[in-house]
Amino acid sequence: MNTKDYETIEALLPHIGNNMYQLMERLFPICRSITGNGVRETLQIISEQIPLQIHEVPSGTKVFDWNIPNEWNVNDAYIISPNGKKIAEFKKSNLHILQYSKPIKEKISFDELKNHIYTLPAQPDVIPYCTTFYNENWGFCMTHNDFLQLEKGGYDIVIDSSLKKGSLTYGEYFLEGKSKQEVVITCYVCHPSMCNDNLSGVVLTTLLGKHLTQIQRKYSFRFLFIPETIGSITWLSLNEGNLKKIQHGIVATCIGDPGKTTYKRSREGNNPVDLVAEKVLKESGEPYQIRDFVPVGGDERQFCSPGFNLPFGSLMRTPYFDFPEYHTSADNLDFVKKENLENSFLKFLSIISELEKNNFQTNNSSKKSKKNIHTNSATFLNLLPKCEPQLGKRGLRAQIGGWKNITEFNLAILWILNQSDGMHSLQDIKKRSDLDYDLLLKVADLLEEKKLLSKVEFKG
Ligand code: ZN
Repeated sequence: MNTKDYETIEALLPHIGNNMYQLMERLFPICRSITGNGVRETLQIISEQIPLQIHEVPSGTKVFDWNIPNEWNVNDAYIISPNGKKIAEFKKSNLHILQYSKPIKEKISFDELKNHIYTLPAQPDVIPYCTTFYNENWGFCMTHNDFLQLEKGGYDIVIDSSLKKGSLTYGEYFLEGKSKQEVVITCYVCHPSMCNDNLSGVVLTTLLGKHLTQIQRKYSFRFLFIPETIGSITWLSLNEGNLKKIQHGIVATCIGDPGKTTYKRSREGNNPVDLVAEKVLKESGEPYQIRDFVPVGGDERQFCSPGFNLPFGSLMRTPYFDFPEYHTSADNLDFVKKENLENSFLKFLSIISELEKNNFQTNNSSKKSKKNIHTNSATFLNLLPKCEPQLGKRGLRAQIGGWKNITEFNLAILWILNQSDGMHSLQDIKKRSDLDYDLLLKVADLLEEKKLLSKVEFKG
């Protein structure tokens, strides 16, 4: 591998931060969701930079435990208050609509309306991002201060949306190298107007694809532009036969904020991508942090589910949940800065350059980690180990998505499902997750009852 190529690229990149930021400015106003025209428009703009292959997967298609949902599109949405004022206007901020709201045109009382309004009392000046993807509903999101101004009386509700059979759209860019072995860089294209989570990852992945096109590569590279969760589940379902080619994977998210760089390890924690990312961050001389894998976050949840256990880490700056702007209108074009985008881009390039220099062999089969099991503690097997099962349809997940906090109950579900490969007991899971053993036991019983787990019986 000629590493000079990478040095040449770095020298050619004085404008990369600018280019990333400009692309983000173009993509920012679009109302994206897990399906719909906002994703198509986003992928069209990315196609001006790299020749994307665009896939449409019909609504209703079964992908592991999930079905592709109906397609959602919005023309307009707003509320007319009793004094005739137009509020919560979708055309002013697309965060005002609860994502996946069904169409509605009705006059209702304030008491009815307030059950459909979502606010963040702890951050009263920002509009929260909320979703109702798999539970038909409607609603509006607004600042808590605006909500406090609402008076009693009749409100006209207008949501001019459509929720009907269509397809889920995703984009893929495959760049052939000398070897058929692949490096996968993935981002998600499903959030409306927010920058750090998730446009920063989109612009980074796009321009990385564009610049890697210009150099000689040992590995083949695959860049994925998918809606989060349902998109990675769909992609894994359609490409199950080709996963053995994946040697290294990185999820790009939250890489434009002013915080220090964070690398989140893969499920195994000691894959070549983990060792290389940690080496690059250490040698950068800049502040950084390394986080162990947790089954909460982005699409690494699916790539690192026990049925695949692929070598996917995630590179970010401040992790989701940890910055107050996360999933709110404050995650905007002012929050993300060119210099941070550029810094993250160069870190990705360094990691890729290191991966190309070394001769790693990743055995990405899920059977590699034989651990010493505490046979005196209950051990379970996840019966749907490929991706996360759909928890919502089993009543195991909150109906409104997007909220910033996750309960210990939900954490326990995700930890048990992720680690129950027959090789980790509940004691092992307690140690890794730091959750209460009684809670884990209770949740494991519930998951067994829901037919998501079965108990492993050890002989002798
Ligand atoms: Zn998000």
